[in-house]
Amino acid sequence: MTAPISAFILTALIGLFLFFALSKRQFRNYRRERLRSKPFPPEWEGILNRNVVLYGYLPDSLKKELQGHIQIFLGEKIFEGCGGLEITDEIRVTIAAQACILLLNRKPTYYPTLYTILVYPGAYVAKKTTVVGMQHFEEMTVRAGESWTRGEVVLAWDNVRQEAIDLAGGHNVVLHEFAHQLDQEDGRSDGAPILGKQTSYKTWARVLSKEYQNLRRKTLTGRHDIMDAYGATNPAEFFAVATETFFERPKQMKLTHPELYKELESYYGMDPLKWIENNDQTAKGAGA
Ligand SMILES: [Zn+2]
Repeated sequence: MTAPISAFILTALIGLFLFFALSKRQFRNYRRERLRSKPFPPEWEGILNRNVVLYGYLPDSLKKELQGHIQIFLGEKIFEGCGGLEITDEIRVTIAAQACILLLNRKPTYYPTLYTILVYPGAYVAKKTTVVGMQHFEEMTVRAGESWTRGEVVLAWDNVRQEAIDLAGGHNVVLHEFAHQLDQEDGRSDGAPILGKQTSYKTWARVLSKEYQNLRRKTLTGRHDIMDAYGATNPAEFFAVATETFFERPKQMKLTHPELYKELESYYGMDPLKWIENNDQTAKGAGA
């Protein structure tokens, strides 16, 4: 084959590839717009008001944005019941809402590598493999959730439901596992998600690594922290646990970990403490 013909075929192939890639993206955006603009079912709003305490704190503009995200999330992800659990709208909407709270106020990626959410009725038993040197050790552990880079999140519905209505507990398995999904978007689970323009990688690395080491020291010496000791396991768990605390106990976190709070506020583009303070002021005003 002569050189000009080869160049022509190559250019045509690149053109075709770009055409299909662009069409795919345009079709996806079109489909998302249609999902986003669908009327939000009143019974779903009832589920949010009953089951997701954070939803009640959101300003109206973010509630509207969240409803659009939920429509897209539910239109794109598959839910599978495990251990005999039948998937209902209550389960789908309660999980989708909390997963999508992490996407508010910024360009949402809708967890591009996630396809399926597996839901068990309660805590489930899974095999854990630990590698020490050349040896693999296996043990069975009880879990409330898992996040995998291969396209799955696993959740225990009992934990999801209880933690979604209880901010004081500071635990939220959905926020935890979907923070892992954000972290894993670059293919690695290392506590370093892809940062937006408003967050500096240098400051993020300095603050999070300092705070992670502090939590490790506290855990080793048996001292209490507002963040769960599980965050001291590794940097990925630290980011997931810090995310739970940021949304569930923002007041205490801002007071005891102001630098970490600032980094998470900049990464998520939200200040949950403001939602709670505004809500409290409105409640006081109404009661006066
Ligand atoms: Zn975790």
